[in-house]
Amino acid sequence: MDWNKPLPQPTTISQPFWDGLKAHQVRLQQCADCNHWIFFPRAHCPRCASASLAWHEVSGAATLYTYTVARIPTLPEFADEMPQILAVVEFDQGPHMNTTLVGIDEAALKVGMRLRPVFDDRPGSVTLLRYTSLDSDQAGVIEATTAAPAIAEPAPSAPRRQVACKDLDAMRTLVSQDFSGWSNEFVVTQALIDQFAELTGDDYWIHTDPEKARAQSPFGTTIAHGALVQVLVSRLTLPLDFEVTGFNNMVNYGSDRLRFASPVPSGSRIHARYRIKAVEQVKSGVQMTMEINIHVVGDPRPAVVNDLVVLYM
Ligand SMILES: [Zn+2]
Repeated sequence: MDWNKPLPQPTTISQPFWDGLKAHQVRLQQCADCNHWIFFPRAHCPRCASASLAWHEVSGAATLYTYTVARIPTLPEFADEMPQILAVVEFDQGPHMNTTLVGIDEAALKVGMRLRPVFDDRPGSVTLLRYTSLDSDQAGVIEATTAAPAIAEPAPSAPRRQVACKDLDAMRTLVSQDFSGWSNEFVVTQALIDQFAELTGDDYWIHTDPEKARAQSPFGTTIAHGALVQVLVSRLTLPLDFEVTGFNNMVNYGSDRLRFASPVPSGSRIHARYRIKAVEQVKSGVQMTMEINIHVVGDPRPAVVNDLVVLYM
């Protein structure tokens, strides 16, 4: 999976900390003169101003000092991690550090709870230090995966009701105000957006230039083409609870309404749901209008609304 989130930039002073994380060790500075433990990395002791600071490997064990749960992405890049638990942890040596908690149930969060480090190798260039609870089944290392499957497990298929397309009354019982459950999830990677840009020739920077997008786009990151998100419905298995039978031919007749209602930031996880809006007898057969809404996971607003028209002949 492509990493599409802002990353720390190691400096000369902080480099030993990042080198430690790469080796799956937590290293902190300690003042050689007053024994004060120090984080963030510095050139001088904040207590006695000594420049004699030494790096030491520590266990990384910590206590939850405070936290907040972000339900709206703090940056668009984090849309795929909602809700995100932003935390301040207290190392056993005393200093505090900002981090995020992973593999932990929101209901289990308690200020003062004990935490253990999780080394997140996924960004590749740096390893991030996250935290989890002692009893979590979260692995202590989140490994960088080179070929992560982009397709999540399809939703379990319920037994489907068979409806004959020529039985108009039965077909009309499919019409509903309520949406279905959700499909499987799919990650819209920057690599996929780049491929779509190449295929279509639409390589506008808002889709393909993460640096420029970070600086200049109102979304703060690159976003997927609306048309790309629309066709990705083929990657999403809608939990259809019916099967239309008794036709010779089924035609995708196009769309009655297509809206790109909200942006899909690069790296977002998307899923879809549907409802049958209308069933009509037309000259050439029976026409069904299925409203498909594609959302970024966790976002109540749809990214794509498509009233798909299917003709059964
Ligand atoms: Zn000192």
